[in-house]
Formats: sequence, structure tokens, C-alpha cells
Amino acid sequence: MRTPFVVGNWKLNKTIAEALALVTELKNQLGSVRGVAVGVAPVFTALHSVAKRLEGSSIATCAQDVFWESSGAFTGEVSAPLLADAGVTWAIVGHSERRQFFGDTNETVGKKARAALAAGLGAIVCVGEMLAERDAGRTLDIVDSQLAGGLVDIAGDVATQRLVIAYEPVWAIGTGRTATPAQAQEVHAHIRKRLTEQYGAQVAQAVRIQYGGSVKPSNAEALMSQPDIDGALVGGASLEASDFIAIVKAARPS
Ligand code: PEP
Repeated sequence: MRTPFVVGNWKLNKTIAEALALVTELKNQLGSVRGVAVGVAPVFTALHSVAKRLEGSSIATCAQDVFWESSGAFTGEVSAPLLADAGVTWAIVGHSERRQFFGDTNETVGKKARAALAAGLGAIVCVGEMLAERDAGRTLDIVDSQLAGGLVDIAGDVATQRLVIAYEPVWAIGTGRTATPAQAQEVHAHIRKRLTEQYGAQVAQAVRIQYGGSVKPSNAEALMSQPDIDGALVGGASLEASDFIAIVKAARPS
């Protein structure tokens, strides 16, 4: 059975002090929750402090992005080995905001995923269609090309251990509009089918596929009880401890 994985993507929010206050509350309140893996993704400036505060807890510190080169003349970038050095264990790559505002492409998302995995981090590879693409009936084609670019040269044994796919329909991110459990499950099942074609059933059954897009305490359980939905990538609702804790608790297998 796959352990659900719930990650809070804080985006461009929270000072170091605010980040520490939130993770301290999460650490205290989620200590007894079993059967769910949990992570938080603060801004770069708070990563090291958050990772230190989370030492001794099972909550993972995740980066919101990563650059594909390890070091060199790349002003403004942060590499996977340096994230690991700061205590980070997972990196999100290909978030739709990175694709939309910062030029990430299927190819660069693949490079970022490979760099994260090569440095020993886990990689959360985000995919998802825009509203016009869904309306045009192109959802599965878009997800296919994002997967094809994002998963180049990732070996099956590495995928089993440290690859997570996040399906995030762009029209549901930060909009309050969520995919229905059936809409999300359809795409998740399709992603698992593609993973089966690429890696075989054993690996495909092990890889977790998170749903993201306006996940809230009120819809979390219905979404995460779908057979191919293995947790959530949570934006807005992860900024409040009580909402995020309720979502983590909703992910527990019944
Ligand atoms: C996200 O940013 O990954 C996300 C899903 O945001 P929200 O939960 O706010 O829609």
C-alpha cells in the first residue's frame, strides 16, 4: 500500500519567524498521526531554519523549485546539493506557476527532477492542464507530454523510492474551484497507466500521485479516498495550521 503524502506549498509567504511558528505547531500536533507522510515547502530563505526546527520529527522540508546544475555561474539559482546541505529532502518541480511565470518547460522540468534525484532528494513533479485545454478535451494529452518530458531518464528503482507526481489542474489552483473526485481520479488513473507503460506495474503501483488544486478540509477526504489519489499538494490551506492538520488527518487510510 502507498503511504499518502500531504505537502504544504507555502509559495511566496511567511517570514522565517512565521514559518517557524507554523512548523512548531505542526510538529506538536502531528506527532501522533500515523500512516501519512507530511512535508512543508517554505520559501528558500526559511528552508534551513525550518529543517533545523523539524529535526527529530517525521515532517519533511521541501523546496518549491531547484536548478539543474550543481554549482557555477548561475546567478540567483539554488542547486539540489545545496538544498540537501540546508536540510531539504524533497523538491517540487514544474509547478504551474513556475511554468506560467518563469518559463519552465517540460524539458527543464525533467532536468530539475533528474538533478533533485541525483542529489538524493525526492522529486515532486507537477503536471496539469489549463482550463482551455480541458474544455478542448486535451487534458490527457497535456498530462502525457508533461510526463514524457518530466520523467526522462528516471530509473524505476529511483522512481519507486523518491518520485511523486502531483496532478494539479491549473484551473483549480488558488481559485476555490476543485476538480470533482471523479474528474481527479480519471486523470490519476491515466497517469498510473502511463507509469505502468514506462516502468511496469510494480513501480507504477508504488509511485504516489498527489492531487492539488483548492484542497480544503471540506473536500480533502472525498478526493483522497479515490483509489489513485495518494495525498495532496496544498497551497492556500497549508498556511493555517488548523486547516493543514485537518487535511493531513483526512488522508489517513481508513
Ligand atoms: C498549489 O499551489 O500547489 C495549490 C494546489 O494551491 P491551492 O491549494 O491554493 O489551490
